[in-house]
This record gives sequence, C-alpha cells and structure tokens, in this order.
Amino acid sequence: MAGIYIHIPFCKTRCTYCDFYMGTNESLLDAFVDTLCAEAKIRKEETGETVETIYFGGGTPSRLHRAHFDRIFDSLFSHYTIAPDAEITLEANPDDLTGDYVEMLSQLPFNRLSIGIQSFSDEELRFLSRRHNGREAVDAVRRCQQQGFRNISIDLMYGLPGQTTEIWRDNLQHAIRLDIQHISSYHLIYEEKTRMYRLLKAGKIQPVPEETSTEMFALLIDTLTTHGFIHYEISAFGKPGYFSRHNISYWKDATYLGLGPAAHSYDGQSRSWNIASITRYNQTKESGLFERTSEQLSLPEKYNEFILTGLRTMWGINLAELKSRFGETLFQFCMENAKKYLDQGLLSTEDQTMKLTREGIFISDGIMSDLMWV
Ligand code: SF4
Repeated sequence: MAGIYIHIPFCKTRCTYCDFYMGTNESLLDAFVDTLCAEAKIRKEETGETVETIYFGGGTPSRLHRAHFDRIFDSLFSHYTIAPDAEITLEANPDDLTGDYVEMLSQLPFNRLSIGIQSFSDEELRFLSRRHNGREAVDAVRRCQQQGFRNISIDLMYGLPGQTTEIWRDNLQHAIRLDIQHISSYHLIYEEKTRMYRLLKAGKIQPVPEETSTEMFALLIDTLTTHGFIHYEISAFGKPGYFSRHNISYWKDATYLGLGPAAHSYDGQSRSWNIASITRYNQTKESGLFERTSEQLSLPEKYNEFILTGLRTMWGINLAELKSRFGETLFQFCMENAKKYLDQGLLSTEDQTMKLTREGIFISDGIMSDLMWV
C-alpha cells in the first residue's frame, strides 16, 4: 500500500467557496475518533503492504486535540506497517496553529504540514470567510519553522472576483518570503451549493476575465520557478526533494486506503468511498459495518485515469506502458487524438514519454478531455 488518507470532516465554520464534506458540530469529535480507530482496525486486512505516506486531510484536521492524535496514531502504528521514513502530513489552518498547538504537533509523528493560507490579503480572506488574516498566516508559518518543521506547504488561491494581477503578484511575493518548501495553488471554482456560487448567480460578484486567469497562472508558474520551485503537477510546486509523496502516489496509480466519512480508497482495481455522514459513520462503530460504495474500474476507465493523472504531471505518460497496459486500440485512440496537439506544440514526445508543453498546460483540460475514451 502506498498511502492512508484520513478524512477529518470538521471545521470551525464553512468558507464561502467550499463544498467539501464537513460539519461544524465538534461535540461529535470524540465519537468520530473512536469510530475512525475502529475502522482502521477493521480494514487492516485490506493491505499487507508497507504504508509509505499518511495524510490527514479535511475539513480541518487541526481541530483535533492531542488525545485524538494519540489515539489515531496508536491505532495506525499497531495495525499497519508504517515505513520508518513515511511522509506524514497534517492539513492545518493558520488560526489553529498557536504556539502551544504547534509545539504539541512537533511531538507527534508529523513531518510535513500543509497550511491553508489561500491569500495574504485581509480583504480577500474576509471575502472567502477564512478565519485568519495575512499577518496571522505569516506568524503561523514562522511558528512552525521555529518549532523545527522543515517540510511546509501552503495553499494559495487565485482568480478571485475583483482580484488583479498586482494583488496576486503581491500574494506570491509574500509566499516566497516565507522560505517554504511547497506551494499548491488553485484557481477559484464556483461550486454549486456554495455561497460563492449563489453570489455569482445573483450577479453580486463577477468572475475574473479569462485573460486575467491565464495571466495569473503564467505569473504563478514564472514567479515560483524563478524562485527554485519545480512545477511538477498542474497545481503543485515543490523545491527539489519536497514534492508531495502522498499526492504523487495518487497520480502514479498506487493503492491507498481512505478512512473517515467521505474518504475514498483505491485498491488497484476498484474505487470505493465511505458514506458522507458523520452521524451515520459514527453509528457504525459498534456493528463494524461501515457503509461504503464501490465501483470496479473498467479498462477504459483505468485508461482515462492514466491519461488524466499522467498528463497533469511533469513526468507525463509513458507510451510503452500505455500500450502494454491498455492495448493497441486505446493506444491508437490516444495517439490519433493527440496528433493535432503534437503538431501545434501543445504536447511533446521524447523517450517514449508524452507530456504537456508549457503552452499546453494552459489548455490542459481541453487536451485531456480530447484524449479520454467516452
Ligand atoms: S477550512 Fe477548508 S474544508 Fe473547512 S470550510 Fe474552509 S475550505 Fe472547506
């Protein structure tokens, strides 16, 4: 097994743009952690492989307390074989990273932090309903560094309504000054069922023009690569030696176990996902009958995943592997559809590998969808 993903579906409040599965009733936390440990025990038979990465995602995993982490780690280390150099990541929000909390984290097995900063502009942060301001974000990172964390990632968001390239440039400069190892950066998406989406539909906010979005993405790539980051996946930039091992395992078809409500698992042949309800999840602790839906992946579905995840990365897709795993028909389908992009210089091939060129990255969604089997 490559990894374990642990979904902590609790947040203090909901951000304007967020459609993740989470709840705000933290009185359920204790029962949730009990259930999570029970699930970890019950599902230990699903893997015999050494666990190379553990990722606490959410929600906001930094809402957990010391006693919760102790119970979860006891359960994981007693039921799974964890590699001595396993990458163990905690997603955290800046407002939770007080001095005492960071000190507590430094005594746990975490060796990587992923901090949800999103922006350093107080106005943008208020608009997103984040619970920190720009100064607090910087202070939180500094505290983590002072406490000895040497593998820190931050999330940054761009393409916000009213955001200019100057504001975005300023956010990027703030990030660079932090001397961190990794940055994940995403364009705002207006997900249905979010407050942001309703504001858009009501005409109260305007999306940034497409040219501005493109300019911001170019600025992101140019600024970070100039400052020592490698653009190794469409949304991910890491200094050498600091790529996210957990995320790479998703893109390289490794298996993973997802624990907690709404968590997804993949065993190499099928995908499954836990019920997206904290209450119903907690109720299954006694019976041990965790509600999960699964689907067997067909060959074309696996091919689509291979294209989608491979092309997102700087490693691209290996054409010999494409042919041997998916056969002549899907291989030919891919190459025929790739031809026009190869001719236009949006895809390139070298040493049996096909990848997006810099120009291709800007229209990656369109290219990938053309290469998908439907
Ligand atoms: S903290 Fe993260 S998971 Fe929680 S509401 Fe905000 S964006 Fe969503």
